[in-house]
Amino acid sequence: MIFKHTDITKNIDETCDVCVVGSGAGGAPIAKELAEAGLSVIILEEGGYYQTEDFRTTDTIGSLIRLYRDGGSEVALGKPNVYIAEGRCVGGSTTINGGMCWRTPDKILKQWQWEKGLADLTPKKMEFYFKRVEEVLSVKPVLPESRNEDAEILRRGAEKLGYEVRANLRAHRGCVGTNQCLTGCPTGGKQSTLVTYVPAFIKAGGRLYADCRVKKVHLKGGRAVGISGIIVDPETRKKKAKVRIRSKVTVICGGAIQTPSLLKRSKIPDASKTLGENLFLHPNAKVVGVFDDPVYAWKGVNQAYQITEFIDEGIIMGVNFIPPGMMSLAIPFYGPGSLEVMKEVYNHCVVGGALIEDTSRGRVINLPFDQALATYRLNERDFRTALRATALLAEIYFAAGAKRVYLPFDQLHEIHTIDEIRKIFEYPIRPVDMELMTVHIMGTCQMGGDPKKSVVDPFGQCHGVPGLFVADASIFPTSIGVNPQETIMAFSTRTAFHIAENASHYLR
Ligand SMILES: Cc1cc2nc3c(=O)[nH]c(=O)nc-3n(C[C@H](O)[C@H](O)[C@H](O)COP(=O)(O)OP(=O)(O)OC[C@H]3O[C@@H](n4cnc5c(N)ncnc54)[C@H](O)[C@@H]3O)c2cc1C
Repeated sequence: MIFKHTDITKNIDETCDVCVVGSGAGGAPIAKELAEAGLSVIILEEGGYYQTEDFRTTDTIGSLIRLYRDGGSEVALGKPNVYIAEGRCVGGSTTINGGMCWRTPDKILKQWQWEKGLADLTPKKMEFYFKRVEEVLSVKPVLPESRNEDAEILRRGAEKLGYEVRANLRAHRGCVGTNQCLTGCPTGGKQSTLVTYVPAFIKAGGRLYADCRVKKVHLKGGRAVGISGIIVDPETRKKKAKVRIRSKVTVICGGAIQTPSLLKRSKIPDASKTLGENLFLHPNAKVVGVFDDPVYAWKGVNQAYQITEFIDEGIIMGVNFIPPGMMSLAIPFYGPGSLEVMKEVYNHCVVGGALIEDTSRGRVINLPFDQALATYRLNERDFRTALRATALLAEIYFAAGAKRVYLPFDQLHEIHTIDEIRKIFEYPIRPVDMELMTVHIMGTCQMGGDPKKSVVDPFGQCHGVPGLFVADASIFPTSIGVNPQETIMAFSTRTAFHIAENASHYLR
């Protein structure tokens, strides 16, 4: 059963085996697997419950307000600031993500095995969990009939230059290519946790409270014994009822900013002093190519291909078309100038981005009034990688016939020929002049074998706090360099199996 704030008339006080905070890529899989294993499980989700029919709208701003944390206006402060988008709704960020699915690269698993004391994470042992996730999400290449022209342009440009192009694997079933993934799939074709894991969880007897912000994890004798929170009216943000859940196991899956914030607020012991540290972001630089012929990039699915030629340098490139309200943020113009450019280029452009496997770090700190703040320091290496990635995308657009390219730099907005790409390296562009954003937040509660260096153990249990687990993107020990949702889901599934197989130990 799913309860919304409108269903709640009095305070909630309940008992269960497992209480899960968050219903995104981390929360929904662990809740579903444990409910199917016969445990009583409750999910508490701060965001609202919206369904496929609710996404049949062209009101982008309304969708941002309903589905994104802070309407999509979060920021990691630094030089430059990095804009952050994350979900706050049932399904978490999977409800508004692009649906790309990649397994954790072997090189990353090896690094975690050797350097982070996670000896068990061999590709062979992880295979079972990846497969299980891929089955639930129907992961497969994009259907030829739903590919769009912007992806084809990117592919043509890259192939002309001899760069490796990979057909994207996505979580989809009957996708008809409406390209509205980022404001909620209006057909249910994209397989977010909202339409896969959450319904399976409910079918297995689970209960989910939407509009419920968890404020504190409770400890008794050093053990986690549940949470307290409030039911919030999403429009007024006013408190409607108190919530107290008493559980034998508590799993935090609020995402890489909210999870460390909640654990810090709850004064969870942290011998490593790394809680909230090591925030990784996959910073993303957007580059827009403008073409003479119409592209109509809004027809067809989000990201049919990725350019993986430079993956060893920590660069993956792809197109990511977005609704007009979001697109106006990706071009370097404001006010009437922005409107003019939008009118001229919207049907003629390709919006692409380069994901950077970052070595820079950030952190999450708590502010008064229950607020979390992320900061991020872009280092020289990642800055240089971002410049190079921007140049490579511009080169691909020109190879595909672009007449001009918009760049994400304050002093250098636009170039018109392949030769002008050198300006990216000639101009005195400083990090602070570059516009970066991210949809991949990771780290902050790192997994590791050594309690002095990590927050959670190899199965996600907080070192020294029995009964308290973390199962979301915050457990990543490093940046992973590919779209993260499958990794998060596979690790969450692995933790679920571990808890279920050791139920007599954890559910005392
Ligand atoms: C626009 C966009 C596009 C993306 N595209 C892709 C893609 O194509 N492929 C890919 O692999 N990844 C993609 N991602 C990233 C991917 O969706 C996330 O990495 C992943 O969903 C993170 O999982 P999570 O469980 O850590 O957090 P989330 O999925 O964000 O879930 C966290 C949930 O916890 C809830 N929560 C937080 N704090 C509390 C609290 N105190 N009380 C109650 N509930 C709380 C939040 O409301 C949220 O619903 C994209 C993300 C975005 C935003």
